[in-house]
Amino acid sequence: MSAERMLPTPEAEDLISLTRRIVDEQLRPAVDAHEREGTFPRDVFRTLGRAGLLGLPYPEEYGGGGQPYEVYLQVLEEIGTAWASVGVGTSVHALSCFGLFTAGTQVQRERWLPDILGGELLGAYCLSEAHAGSDPAAMRTTARRVGDDYVIDGAKAWTTHGGQADFYKVMAKAEAGITCFLVPADADGLSADPPEDKMGLMGSTTATMLFDGVRIPVERRLGGEGQGLSIALAGLDAGRLGIAAVATGVAQGALDVAIAYAKERETFGRPIIDHQGLTFVLADMAAAVESARATYLSAARRRDAGLPFGQQASIAKLVATDNAMKVTTDAVQVLGGAGYTRDFPVERYMRETKVMQIFEGTNQIQRLVIGRGLKKQ
Ligand SMILES: Cc1cc2nc3c(=O)[nH]c(=O)nc-3n(C[C@H](O)[C@H](O)[C@H](O)COP(=O)(O)OP(=O)(O)OC[C@H]3O[C@@H](n4cnc5c(N)ncnc54)[C@H](O)[C@@H]3O)c2cc1C
Repeated sequence: MSAERMLPTPEAEDLISLTRRIVDEQLRPAVDAHEREGTFPRDVFRTLGRAGLLGLPYPEEYGGGGQPYEVYLQVLEEIGTAWASVGVGTSVHALSCFGLFTAGTQVQRERWLPDILGGELLGAYCLSEAHAGSDPAAMRTTARRVGDDYVIDGAKAWTTHGGQADFYKVMAKAEAGITCFLVPADADGLSADPPEDKMGLMGSTTATMLFDGVRIPVERRLGGEGQGLSIALAGLDAGRLGIAAVATGVAQGALDVAIAYAKERETFGRPIIDHQGLTFVLADMAAAVESARATYLSAARRRDAGLPFGQQASIAKLVATDNAMKVTTDAVQVLGGAGYTRDFPVERYMRETKVMQIFEGTNQIQRLVIGRGLKKQ
């Protein structure tokens, strides 16, 4: 069952229909094999790019979709109902373009954005390091200016699409502070460690990227020296809404499986959905999904209206991912023993959701951001 949506325009309705069609025809048939074998679905990102779904929140003049954030996020949610790795990847790709769009020069935007937004080039975002996740300012990767170039040395941990991307948005310490660079995948001295062996999101490669004297011309610096951390963090405000939307999609997917199972499965002579104790579990799951959706949409509408939305984005990420963790765990419960097997996708949904409470700022860090905002009120 698909979520009922209130969309702002007929164009947005068409986009959701297109997304549902691609999800049903191309994502659902492929998800199990990729997630079991841990293979990266590069072709799926190409399909999404060619359908115009990879650059939705960016302006049409650069090849984007010119859509409000509230529409882009609902597209992400639809993808998340079927395949979290692809939903997360789509959100990370949008995050990797953010610095180029907001801090890049006109020349930089015109040169790179059309291929990136059209899905020909897949992006990654390199902020975290092994010792600097929640506290990215503690990073040690350096960017040394040598003539018209920068030379980057260090290691960026946990890179989603690491080793698969065509370009990396990299934050490194230059003389005037943390600075943002767009590094092409084929740069000399850039390599990827073997991917992390994770609990979930097997179809989303996560790897440490190693920078060994990577020489980058100054034209690939985004914004000024020292502006990199603010570019990275501003991108995360929007990125967190992406994660909230994907988490809501995964939760909706888990709820759909649980309802279908509860209508079929009988105990004590009737379908388990007719046992009130079980119906209450399903009712709480439905309430958690709806409230997560309402929370991320409310934050997105603030962003679309040009209002500050950082605190609301943190609230949406916190609420949507915590709700999704509960909903996916309860979906396993609704299916009983069957829920604990790989015959049904709910155990995968549960494993996939866990990381959403961790990346793009753990949910403890979201609380720090929300608390800081409260102090300013
Ligand atoms: C699958 C996956 C994909 C990822 N993709 C990317 C990516 O594409 N790009 C990227 O840059 N990073 C990525 N990350 C990294 C991710 O953002 C970090 O893992 C995350 O920010 C947490 O950092 P950490 O792992 O170093 O944990 P730590 O910072 O070591 O935190 C450990 C624990 O301490 C808590 N904690 C830390 N500081 C505080 C505090 N001040 N108050 C209260 N609690 C605190 C945390 O909440 C956590 O529970 C990814 C991570 C994973 C697992």
